[in-house]
Formats: sequence, structure tokens, C-alpha cells
Amino acid sequence: MIVRHTIFQNSLMTALLDGIYDGEMTIGELLGKGNFGIGTFDALDGEMIILDGVCYQLRGDGTATVADLDQGTPFAVATNFVPRIKVAAPKGLKREELSAFIDEVEPSANYMYAVRITGRFSNVVTRTVVKQSKPYPPMAQAVGGDKELRFDDVEGIIGGFRTPVFEKGISVPGCHVHFIDAARTSGGHVLDYTVDEATIELCPGTDLDLRLPLTHDFRSANLAPDDLDQQLHTTEIKG
Ligand SMILES: [Zn+2]
Repeated sequence: MIVRHTIFQNSLMTALLDGIYDGEMTIGELLGKGNFGIGTFDALDGEMIILDGVCYQLRGDGTATVADLDQGTPFAVATNFVPRIKVAAPKGLKREELSAFIDEVEPSANYMYAVRITGRFSNVVTRTVVKQSKPYPPMAQAVGGDKELRFDDVEGIIGGFRTPVFEKGISVPGCHVHFIDAARTSGGHVLDYTVDEATIELCPGTDLDLRLPLTHDFRSANLAPDDLDQQLHTTEIKG
């Protein structure tokens, strides 16, 4: 049985796609909304992963550092992770198979899920946004030159959210996950991975706490582009 659990979100995926890269929320405030999450930083300066209440900044060169509490974020999703479901991941599980596997474990695609995969991976392929300068290009352009990095036979954590399709535009539909290695020194936005030996933990979310920015840029953003599907694919699946 699913119990009520709130997922917090700062701004919208469509705002990020439209080049709204400066927020009005600090990492310190965000950590008050949850001890687990993913997102990005002001000026699109790298990918974010929050684990056990610590916020890490993952940069284009693959490095990870602890973010400062006074840094800003234009987009993030966070929750207090309660591992209500815990299962061994099938050996060889790939990114594209995770949603189907979650459906087997917890058969409703109509809720949100915080997802944490901890263990050893045969490989993890990442891509990480790099800091942009003004005037900001739309995200589909901003990710154009990003390098893919590949980590082989690596221990670490893949964390993020499985979001229902009806949230398209609010968030990234499907699984959106970030990776950080066990030493917490490298990682990025996950394009693909293969599980060697790992545990999957799920925290179902029933309530969405959505915070819209009060900035001028957000007020005038185009949040309903005609080619939303294409933009989501370009920015989140393959750069
Ligand atoms: Zn990401």
C-alpha cells in the first residue's frame, strides 16, 4: 500500500528548456525540502545530486564537489527519501529497462518515485551540462557540445526520479537519474548504465509541492513549446 509522501520541485523542466538558468532558491533552502534529489545550478553550472542531505555539484569534466549552501538553483527535485521498497537489481539491467522493472515491483505508473540504485555497475555513461553565459541559449543548444564520459566497472550511486508521463513539461517524464561514484569525487547526468550488482530502493511519491520562480525571466518564459518532445529527447537522452 502506498502512503502519502511529498516530492518537492523548484521550477519547471520547460523553464529550463527555455533558458531560464538563474533561479531564486539556494541550496540551503532546497536541503530544507529533502535529503535526496537531483537538479542543476545557476547558469546551468553542472548537474546536482543530493544524497543523505549533502548536495554535490557534478561538472562537465566529470568531477564532483560539495556545493555551498548559498549557491543558487534554477531547477531541482527533492524529497526526504524513505526506502519503502528495496529489491536486488537484476544483473545486466540497463537504463531503458528500469521503468519496466519498477512497474513489475510496484505496479502503478501513476505515482512519482524517488529511485536510488546503490552498488557496482559494469558501466555508467554520463553527460554533464556546462556553465552558460548570458544571453543564455535554450537548453537544446546549450547541451550541444557536452562530452559523454564513460565509467567502467565502477561502484557508486545512481539517484533520481521516475516521473509519470502526465508530468511532461513539469518534469522529465520517465527515469531521470544522476550518478556519483562511491568516493563521491566524480559523476554526472546518466545517459546509460549496466548494473553488475546493486540494490534498488524506491520511495513512492503521492503529493507534488511545486514552487514557481518569481523572477522576471520566468514570468515571460515560453513554457509550452511546440517541439517539447524533441527538446526533452535532445537535452535528457542524447546531447
Ligand atoms: Zn539530469
